[in-house]
Amino acid sequence: LSAYGMPEWMKDAYGKAPTFGQRSKLSIQKQRQSLPIYKLKKELVQACHENQVLVVIGETGSGKTTQVTQYLAEAGYTTKGKIGCTQPRKVAATSVANRVAEEFGCRLGEEVGYAIRFEDRTCPETVIKYMTDGILLREILIDEDLSQYSVIMLDEAHERTISTDVLFGLLKQLVKRRPDLRLIVTSATLDAEKFSRYFFNCNIFTIPGRTFPVEILYTKQPESDYLDAALITVLQIHLSEREGDVLLFLTGQEEIDYACQCLYERMKSLGKNVPELIILPVYGAQASEMQSRIFDPAPPGKRKVVIATNIAEASLTIDGIFYVIDPGFAKQNVYNPKQGLDSLVITPISQASAKQRAGRAGRTGPGKCYRLYTESAFHNEMSPTSIPEIQRINLGMTTLNLKAMGINDLLSFDFMDPPTPQALISAMEQLYSLGALDEEGLLTKLGKKMAEFPMDPPLSKMLLASVDLGCSDEILTIIAMIQTGNIFYRPREKQARADQKRAKFFQPEGDHLTLLAVYEAWKAKNFSGPWCFENFVHLRSLREAQDVRKQLLSFMDKFKLDVVSAGKNFSKICKAIAAGFFFHVARKDPQEGYRTLVENQPVYIHPRSGLFQRQPDWVIYHELVMTTKEYMCEVTVIDPKWLVELAPRFFKVSNPTKMSKRKRQERIEPLYDRYHEPNSWRLSKRRA
Ligand code: ADP
Ligand code: MG
Repeated sequence: LSAYGMPEWMKDAYGKAPTFGQRSKLSIQKQRQSLPIYKLKKELVQACHENQVLVVIGETGSGKTTQVTQYLAEAGYTTKGKIGCTQPRKVAATSVANRVAEEFGCRLGEEVGYAIRFEDRTCPETVIKYMTDGILLREILIDEDLSQYSVIMLDEAHERTISTDVLFGLLKQLVKRRPDLRLIVTSATLDAEKFSRYFFNCNIFTIPGRTFPVEILYTKQPESDYLDAALITVLQIHLSEREGDVLLFLTGQEEIDYACQCLYERMKSLGKNVPELIILPVYGAQASEMQSRIFDPAPPGKRKVVIATNIAEASLTIDGIFYVIDPGFAKQNVYNPKQGLDSLVITPISQASAKQRAGRAGRTGPGKCYRLYTESAFHNEMSPTSIPEIQRINLGMTTLNLKAMGINDLLSFDFMDPPTPQALISAMEQLYSLGALDEEGLLTKLGKKMAEFPMDPPLSKMLLASVDLGCSDEILTIIAMIQTGNIFYRPREKQARADQKRAKFFQPEGDHLTLLAVYEAWKAKNFSGPWCFENFVHLRSLREAQDVRKQLLSFMDKFKLDVVSAGKNFSKICKAIAAGFFFHVARKDPQEGYRTLVENQPVYIHPRSGLFQRQPDWVIYHELVMTTKEYMCEVTVIDPKWLVELAPRFFKVSNPTKMSKRKRQERIEPLYDRYHEPNSWRLSKRRA
C-alpha cells in the first residue's frame, strides 16, 4: 500500500513496525495451549471420528476456527482429502488463514491457504483451506460430491448467510451419499438445538467458555447522532477509565474512516499531555497488513481503540478488549422488491447481536458495554434474533446456482428456513426475463454460462451480451469498477477540487463509461499511485478493480469467451449494459426528475453523476440510493429502441398501430400482466 492519499491517522497506524511476525514460535504454541479448546482436543477428535455430523458450540475466542482444522489435520484427516472451513465474511477467511498458516509453520498459500471471490491463495499442497461460504457453494456446483474434501466445517453458521443456508441443504444430501465425509457446523449457543435437529439430530459438542461479567450501560435518552455519541464515549473512556482496549462497532468503511479521522483530530487537539490512543479501523475491504495490526497488543501506557464493522462481533477475536461501545446498528443486505435488487441498509441490530457485542468486553476480565440506546429500546424495539439472509435478499443468483446443479424444484428444497414462494418465483421471473430460464423454468444455454460467473445474474448477463456485441474488453473493466465501489475520493475540506477533477473524466454516454475512462487513464499512467492522489481517486479501489478484472479475464479464458474491444463504438457498450440492467430503466418525467419504467416510481439523477446537468430522456441506472430523495447512481443514456430488442420477454411496444413510428418507440412498457398472474406458468409447469 502506498502512502499517497493516506489520511494522517492511517499513516500512524501503518507507520509502526509490525510485531506480528516477530513473535517466537514458542509463544505461539503457548498461546494455542492456553485456548479453552485445547483441553478438549482429544475428545473433539474422538467426537469427529464417531459422528459424521457434529454441531460445535463455544464462546467466541475459544479456538474453534483456528484450532479445529489443525487438530483434525494432526489426526490424519488430511491424508484422505482437504479440510475446508467456510466463513461468512472474506476478512475472516483471510485473517484466520494468515494466523493458522503462522501456527502451522508454513507460508500462507502453501499447506494453509484461503480462497475468496476473485482471489485464490491455495496450491495443490494446500490441506487446510479457509474460504467464504460463497466459494464452497461454487465448488459444490462444479463437483457435487466435493470429492477433494475429507472434512467440511461450516463456521459461524449462525450468521445464516444465504450461501450457508444453501450449503446446509446441499451438504445434508451429500453426507448421505458420502459416509466418509465429516461435517462440522459451528454455531452460537442459541441456535445449536435447531441446527442439530436439522442435521438428523446430531450430537452437540460444547466447549466450556471462560467469560467475565460485563456491566451494561444504557443511555437515558435516544441518541440523535450515534456517531458523535460514540466518539465522545471513546474519549471519555480513554481519559477517565482504567486501562483496557476499546472496541467500537460502526456500520461500514466510510463511517469508520470518518470516525478514525475525527478521533485523530480530537486527540491531537487535546495535546501531548494525554496518553496515546492507537486508532485501528477494521472492515472488509482492507489491506491485510492493516488487519494483522489489530491483534498486536497496545504498548504499556497506551490504549488501543478498534473501530470495526460487525466483523468483530464474532468472526474476529481481539484480545484485551475491556470496553465495548455499541450504537446498535449494522449494515444489512436487504432486498428491495421495488428496485429489484439488494442494497446495504443501516438497520438496528437484534438483541442476540447486542448480547454478542457486549460479550466481547468480558474475555480478558470484567468489562463494560456502553449501549448508545435506551434500555426500553433494547427490550421493545429490537427483535430477539436476526432474520436469515435467505428471507431478506434477492434469490436470483441462488436460484441460478441451484438450477445449474439440476435442482429444479426449489419450492420443495430442504431449506432450514425456506424463503417465501413469492421470493423464489420473482427470482425465477427475473431469470426468465434475462433469458437464463426457458418457458418451463429450466436452465437455458445462456443460463448455464451465466451460472459459471460468481456475479449477480444481471452482471453476468451484461458480460455475456458484451461478448456477442463485441465490447467485452470494456465491459470487463466496467464490471470490475462497479463492483468495487467508492472510486472517487472526496475529502471534506477539498470537495470542490475533487469534484472538478472528477468532472474531467465525465463521458457524454454516462457514468459507466466514466468509470471506464478513469481505469483507462490510470492504466495509461502505468497504474501509478501518485496519479490517483492527484486525481482524487482511491488507489486501493482501483487496485481491487484491477484484481477483479484479472480474475474475470481468467474466467473468460476458461470458458473460451472472446475479449474484444468496441474501439470508439460506445453505443455497443451502453447496449451491453442495458442487456443486463433493463429492469433499471427510467424516463424523464415531464414535471420533474424521472420515473422508473417498471414501478413508475419517482427518481432523480444523483447530483454527482456526469449526467446531472444534461438530464437525458432515457437512462439506465445501476442502483438507487435513498438519501433526501431516491437517487439513481451510475447512470447511462440509452436508446429505448434497444429495450424491446434486448429484453423481448420483458418489454413490449404499446399501442403499436395508432402512433407515429417515433412516438411508438417512446411507448415502451413492461409486460406487466405476465408477472401478476397469481398462478403463472412457471408455477403450474414446475417440474419435480
Ligand atoms: P473462535 O473461532 O472460537 O472464536 P478463534 O479460533 O478465531 O476462536 O481464535 C482463537 C484465538 O486466536 C483468539 O484468542 C485470537 O486472539 C487468536 N487469533 C485469531 N486470529 C488471529 C490473528 N489473525 N492474529 C493473531 N491472533 C489471532
Ligand atoms: Mg470463529
